Amino acid sequence: MTALTRAQELSQFWQPICHSYQQGLTVLPPFLGLSAEGFQALCDDFASVGLTVIVDTAQHHSPVRRLRNDLLVMREPELQELLDLLHQHSNPDAHYQQLAATVIAYGCLGSQHLWKDLGLPERPRLSQLFAWYFPALFQRNDRNMRWKRFLYKQLCESGGDYVCRAPSCEQCSTYAECFGPES
Ligand code: SF4
Repeated sequence: MTALTRAQELSQFWQPICHSYQQGLTVLPPFLGLSAEGFQALCDDFASVGLTVIVDTAQHHSPVRRLRNDLLVMREPELQELLDLLHQHSNPDAHYQQLAATVIAYGCLGSQHLWKDLGLPERPRLSQLFAWYFPALFQRNDRNMRWKRFLYKQLCESGGDYVCRAPSCEQCSTYAECFGPES
């Protein structure tokens, strides 16, 4: 994949995610999982490349976001496993690889397709995000599995117990949940 500049990363991935976040259309936690200072630094980065992103302070503290965040405490080990997997495969040349790992890990805890839970406009944008921030994982998903299921399958293969109950995908009764269209 052609290397992306900071401005391209911001416009292709982070601007649409922040726009959806402002509209309450993501499952992402307050400040996208960043600290308040980290989120402000992201806003400063938008401004530095001439991009406008408006996120009201109230959005970070909306009741539904806070409730969802409180419930996540029970899934902390799962969140950490996802973060570890993503950090192990991140692209050191990307500008926001830490943020990408954070939002994907949190997005996996939602109930819709990952691209929807992140607030991206369509599934191909999520694949582009993986290709840039996590190229090794992108290449490993050569059967075009649903991204959320793909990540959990990686955890299953490393000894976790999340989605795979069958010895192989071909023998699995939930095959369609992993390989069906993600529209
Ligand atoms: S099809 Fe079955 S075995 Fe294959 S990744 Fe999905 S849950 Fe696991």
